[in-house]
Amino acid sequence: MGYEHNIMSMTVEELGDLMKDYGQPAYRAKQIYERIHSGNAMSLDEITNIPAALKEKLRTEGFDVFPVSILERLVSKTDGTKKYVMGLHDGNVIESVLMEYKHGYSICISSQVGCRMGCTFCASTLDGRIRDLDAGEMLGQIYAIRKNEGIKVHSIVVMGCGEPMDNFHNLVRFLKMISDPMGMNLSGRNITVSTCGITERIRELADMKFGLTLAISLHSPTDELRRTFMPIANKYTVEDLMKAADYFFEKTGRRVTFEYSLIKGLNDTKECALELSKLLSGKNAHVNLIPVNPVKERKWERSTDNSVNAFKLMLEKNRINATIRRGMGADIDAACGQLRRRYLGEHETR
Ligand code: SAH
Repeated sequence: MGYEHNIMSMTVEELGDLMKDYGQPAYRAKQIYERIHSGNAMSLDEITNIPAALKEKLRTEGFDVFPVSILERLVSKTDGTKKYVMGLHDGNVIESVLMEYKHGYSICISSQVGCRMGCTFCASTLDGRIRDLDAGEMLGQIYAIRKNEGIKVHSIVVMGCGEPMDNFHNLVRFLKMISDPMGMNLSGRNITVSTCGITERIRELADMKFGLTLAISLHSPTDELRRTFMPIANKYTVEDLMKAADYFFEKTGRRVTFEYSLIKGLNDTKECALELSKLLSGKNAHVNLIPVNPVKERKWERSTDNSVNAFKLMLEKNRINATIRRGMGADIDAACGQLRRRYLGEHETR
C-alpha cells in the first residue's frame, strides 16, 4: 500500500492547492470540503457534485476519504448514553461516546489509539500508545455518530482514549477544522479538551485563543500522592500545573475545570479535600468529581457515596465550585478504554 492521504484531514486551503495542481476550478475544494464536513459524505462516491474523472485521479494519487466506522453500539439502560466501538481504516479500534444533556448532544472522542501516560486507574493506557489519530479520524468519530443517529451535535469533549496534548499537531488541526464555518462551525464554548497536564502545550493552546474549555486531570492536590498513580507527575509538579492553568485563564478568560477521579482510600480523604481547597482557593476554577470506574486489571475501588459527598461538601465549605459527575452509562463498560479492550478480546484472531 502506498502513502495514503485522508481527504477528511485536509483543510479547505490544502484542498484548494491540490485542485490548483490538478488544473481544477477553485470552487471544487469547497464542494469537496462541504460534502465531507457538513454533508455527511463518507466516501468519494458520495461526493456527487464533482466529476468522476477527478475522483479517479484523486484515488490513483492515493487520496481517499477514510471514514470511521461504527463496529458496535451500546445503549445504556440507565441514562440512554450510547457508546461506540469504532473502526479505523487500518483495522485499529477506538471508542467514542454520545451523551444527551438538556442543552443538546455531546460527543466524547478519542485522540489516540491507546495512550502512553500510564495513569494506573485508566484502561486506555494498559497496552501503551499504538498510534496517534489524524484530524480526520477525530472528526470522523463525530461524523459517524451524527449520521448514524441523525442528530445535531451541540458540543465535543476530547476526553476519550489518548492524551490529546501528546498528539498536539493533529489536535490543533482538528480544532481549526471543527470551528470552520464551512464545516461544523462549532464555537470554542462548545469544546472541551482534557489533559493530564502537559504544561508547555497548555500554554501553547492558550495562546491560540480557541475559546475552549480546558480540563486538567489533577486527581491529587500534592506531588507526593500524584506521583504514586500518575507517572506524568514526575515530569510536572502540581505547582507547574497551577501556573499553566492560571496562564490559560489569563489568556482566554475561560474558567479551568479540574477533574478529580475519586479512588477509595487513596485520594478521597478529608485531608485531600482540604489540601485541594487550599490549592484552588481564590482561583476561578471548577472541580469535577468523578467516582472512579474500577478497571478489572487494577486494584483501585470506587469511593463510597458518603466519601464522595463529604469531599464535595468540604470543597464547597471552602467556596470551591464542585460538581459530581455521575458515571454516564456505567452499565456499558464506562471507563475509558474498557470497551475497546473487551471488543479486542472477543475478536482476537489468534
Ligand atoms: N488523557 C486525557 C483525556 C482522557 S481521560 C486526560 O488525562 O485528561 C478523561 C478523564 O477520565 C481523565 O480525567 C482521566 O483521568 C479520567 N479517567 C480515566 N480512567 C478513569 C476511570 N477508570 N475512572 C474515572 N476516571 C477515569
